[in-house]
Amino acid sequence: MKKPFITKQQAEEIIKTYPTPFHIYDEKQIRENARNLYKAFSWNEGFREYFAVKATPNPAILKILQEEGCGVDCSSLTELMMSECCGFSGEDIVFSSNVTPKEDYLKARELGALINLDDFTHIEFLEKLCGIPETIMCRYNPGGRFEIETQVMDNPAEAKYGFTHEQIIEGFKLLKEKGAKRFGIHAFLASNTVSNAYYPKLARILFELAVEIKEKTGVKISLIDLSGGIGVPYELDKQPNDIFAIGEGVHKAFDEILIPAGLGDIKISTELGRYMLAPYGHLVTKCIHHKHIYKEYIGVDATACDLMRPAMYGAYHHITVLGKENQPCDHLYDVTGSLCENNDKFAIDRMLPQIDDGDILVIHDTGAHGYSMGYNYNGRLRHAELLLCEDGSVRMIRRAETPADYFATFDFCGVMDKYLK
Ligand SMILES: *Cc1c(COP(=O)(O)O)cnc(C)c1O
Repeated sequence: MKKPFITKQQAEEIIKTYPTPFHIYDEKQIRENARNLYKAFSWNEGFREYFAVKATPNPAILKILQEEGCGVDCSSLTELMMSECCGFSGEDIVFSSNVTPKEDYLKARELGALINLDDFTHIEFLEKLCGIPETIMCRYNPGGRFEIETQVMDNPAEAKYGFTHEQIIEGFKLLKEKGAKRFGIHAFLASNTVSNAYYPKLARILFELAVEIKEKTGVKISLIDLSGGIGVPYELDKQPNDIFAIGEGVHKAFDEILIPAGLGDIKISTELGRYMLAPYGHLVTKCIHHKHIYKEYIGVDATACDLMRPAMYGAYHHITVLGKENQPCDHLYDVTGSLCENNDKFAIDRMLPQIDDGDILVIHDTGAHGYSMGYNYNGRLRHAELLLCEDGSVRMIRRAETPADYFATFDFCGVMDKYLK
């Protein structure tokens, strides 16, 4: 069972001010979850979560996480700009990008961010552009397959990210020669892992690498960034990760590998996105259409422009029909948006209670990689983002797009002026 964090009554009240569809986030749970993450890693002095901005790029969300002690993980110029405006600076920011344009590195350097290089050639690129900073990180790609107990989690050899093993050893030698003083390593080897074993396994790989780098180059690693990848159970048959078991698993690896090697003062960091936000966001949408052809279709007022994951990955998102939580799921539906694209479906062949026009549907687990992956196909506009505050009030944290926003990039040619106000 997945229980929405708003009731039908609450939703009806909200809709009086903010019509559907909208994304809504639950401040209380976001804070609780962040606090638990910090507790789980409290054994590591200096532990820090750098929230992956791309998951939910909204200043109000960044501020909440900032209050909980988090920094930010940025990978583009605009993410850096948003973080700057929210008051993140210096080592509050990790800049983990790839195929990085010059402007992005310049901004990261201006803000004093921790720069995480994705490629060996970027050592020279960065040096020529703005010099090597005192603290520098490199992203590692071990190649091969990443397995946990014979289960293949992902395929790093096919991933575009990071330095090879040989490159990272050479890279740290070079960075040291070029004057860097403090060093970090980073890796992201599997996404949306619903397994308490992912971080501990990844940590072992990075901890052993830190020991090897010390032995082979004399460079002492002081930061290890476990990046993102802790997942959430979108499906009902999966169990949520236990962050305390994960923290303890990393702790054990730390004690076994880093302490004996004299590297016990390494600071651990994370760049979680999905784990920090996904379960604490809902896409709330209304049924506006029924269609009976070869299948039964429920048309809703949201589209894949608001939530692309089902269209892009065939991702499952659980749906609750508000007020009908206890009715039998005895109707087989496809729940669709209005795009002229047959993959614009929030659910396919889903058993749900009977849905009537005007029913309010909650699409679960949309708090991360939801709004942010949105787009404007078919000229469909993206909708508002709301925050359910701790005191129970609701605040708009991003307004819905208007046609004028959609036409704004034609402001130079006069053609669309009629609609540009
Ligand atoms: C996307 C990304 C993250 C966050 O990933 P999640 O799956 O949301 O945890 C962290 N770090 C980097 C470099 C990323 O690209």
